[in-house]
Amino acid sequence: MKKQAVVIFGPPGSGKGTQAELLARRYLFINIDSGRYIESALRDPDAKKSPELQKEKKLFDAGILSSPSWVLKFMHGIISGIADSGHNIVLSGSLRTVYEAFGDKQKEGLVPLLVRKYGKKNVIVIRLNVADKSSLQRNTGRLICSVCGLQALEAAKAKQCSLCSGPLRKRTLDKPEVIKVRLKEYRERSYPVIKEMKKHGFKVCEINGEPLPYKVFESVKKALKLTG
Ligand SMILES: [Zn+2]
Repeated sequence: MKKQAVVIFGPPGSGKGTQAELLARRYLFINIDSGRYIESALRDPDAKKSPELQKEKKLFDAGILSSPSWVLKFMHGIISGIADSGHNIVLSGSLRTVYEAFGDKQKEGLVPLLVRKYGKKNVIVIRLNVADKSSLQRNTGRLICSVCGLQALEAAKAKQCSLCSGPLRKRTLDKPEVIKVRLKEYRERSYPVIKEMKKHGFKVCEINGEPLPYKVFESVKKALKLTG
């Protein structure tokens, strides 16, 4: 099979991370959840020494997207390395601004990088659609393992992580008032990226993200022509 680079778009709570994780588990895609890479870089105690990272952490905690120039520099390095290792890759929530996607004269964007590494016809774009109401509901109830980052299913009943038994925590990102900011940010900043991708000739596969994740996954597999 030709190596693929899959880009998943969708509002917070649309199940991007879950679909990416399913691709990783079932077909050994490397799941680049830029949010988690960024969160981990900002939580690193060494971040305190860098004024740039301190500034980014403040934005992050308020639910505002990180600075595009910092994200592009940071993610370009990570994605290059993984592409060179010859793996399929899935990006969930990485291309959040037109600049991150397409760059400028000084810096190559993440889309041209993927095209250069995987070939244009192997870069597949998926958009998961869910209503705002579902987005809010799914996010406010969400608990994450504080050790391994796994999301707890049936969070209301869960006491500990099903993988490592670690304590569960709420993310600062998932407070209702922060989710509303994130939904607005998604619409204002990410939507133009999808438009730009279409303009560059990428086909965007529209998928309904409302059903149970394994059912959504059937549609994702079909879009990627994955079998087995
Ligand atoms: Zn855990």
